[in-house]
Amino acid sequence: MKLSFHGAARSVTGSRHLLEVPGFRVLLDCGMFQGRRGEAIYRNRELGFNPKSVGAVLLSHAHIDHSGALPVLPGQGFAGKVYLTRATADLAGIMLEDSARVQENDCRYVNKKERRRGRTCIRSFYDSDDVRKIVKRFQGERYGDQIKIAPRLAASFHDAGHILGSAAVRVKYTARGNSTTVLFSGDLGRSHMPILRDPEPPPPCDVLILESTYGDRLHEQLGEEMKKKAQDLIQHARTHKSKIIVPAFAVGRTQELVMRIKELVGEGRVDPIPIYIDSPLANKATGVFKRHPECYDDETSKTFSDAGDVFASRYIRFVSSPEESKRLNAMRGPCVIISSSGMCEGGRIVHHLKHAIQDEANVIVIVGFQAEHTLGRKLIEGWDVVPIFGVPTPRRAQVVRFNGLSAHADRNDLLAYVRAIDPLPSTIFIVHGEEKQALSLGAAIQAEHPRINVSIPHHGSTHEV
Ligand SMILES: [Zn+2]
Repeated sequence: MKLSFHGAARSVTGSRHLLEVPGFRVLLDCGMFQGRRGEAIYRNRELGFNPKSVGAVLLSHAHIDHSGALPVLPGQGFAGKVYLTRATADLAGIMLEDSARVQENDCRYVNKKERRRGRTCIRSFYDSDDVRKIVKRFQGERYGDQIKIAPRLAASFHDAGHILGSAAVRVKYTARGNSTTVLFSGDLGRSHMPILRDPEPPPPCDVLILESTYGDRLHEQLGEEMKKKAQDLIQHARTHKSKIIVPAFAVGRTQELVMRIKELVGEGRVDPIPIYIDSPLANKATGVFKRHPECYDDETSKTFSDAGDVFASRYIRFVSSPEESKRLNAMRGPCVIISSSGMCEGGRIVHHLKHAIQDEANVIVIVGFQAEHTLGRKLIEGWDVVPIFGVPTPRRAQVVRFNGLSAHADRNDLLAYVRAIDPLPSTIFIVHGEEKQALSLGAAIQAEHPRINVSIPHHGSTHEV
């Protein structure tokens, strides 16, 4: 069996790993690269392997950095199925449609300016037609079922507790009475987070492909300190009649934020202020959440049956039309605007930042991971001038981080995940982390388990397992 790594190797975005057995190739994830524009364009067009040679795709979850390059496949000759959980199938469908639409809008906006400057125009990676073609190949599966994907190859999905439908993917290859199993963690969630069930304990495997987004960090505890921080922020917005702008993944993060704010209001810690969820995608995704109660934890299932719609409230407004979104730009606070994309690399959030970033009374709240070279990363790095739609823009708004809201396992969770595999795997590949995180996690695993062969693959490298 061969494994090669074509994305999220010593980096975070563009998750794509190719598993090859005699006569069959399976692609684990087909994510989109985000970061430096030129590099992202190149890597999203050149996948690093021939899609025609791929027999099937196994998708861990719907986030765009894992699923966003799927629509490129059919145009390059891929004719197999895409296996994914049922909730992921629903979510990925709307997310890819949205991705196509956002790309088209961003291209139109950028090209209008480029044309004025006499420069060549950019093209989107795919359009809604390409999305329709790949969605037709989706095969939604249940957690835990054994799925036969080729004569000697079976796969199964195991709840990863990261976003709705997320899974660790196990692949088993059997030949001449021997079998080899590979477990791909996808993105791992955390225990005791709202809405979703906790991550399932990992099933046994010979080879583990493990994410390392927070491989060298521990999250803050979701305790009193964080609630106080949120309370102060809302009070600040109220006093200054300012805006709190929250870039958030439309799926997962947004729904969780809504639950958290409702909790603070429910506990009488803050008076409600208007909250605008400005993302047609978040709106649709919330609908998908409602259709998949099989993914909820007990508490959410109970709230749903007791109180009806857990995501609704009189001070929360879902914004759909572009006109209403534009009206928010001119509006005065206090208010919270939650919008995507989560790393500020496209979508309505960029327009909100453009309008709010120069006012020192406004606050930008970062709740999710920000990959290198993205606008979100520049904000947390404290840049005084940031490029917005290519225009250097002074930043005067405060930037505040909330690490405790992460949907990712931290270093201790990742180490515990490895420890829970019984018997321990012989080989671990560390992926989906920047070099520093991946190396640090790799060293910790190696120190704890000297017999495991720990490897941190480079982009484009191939390994025999
Ligand atoms: Zn994810």
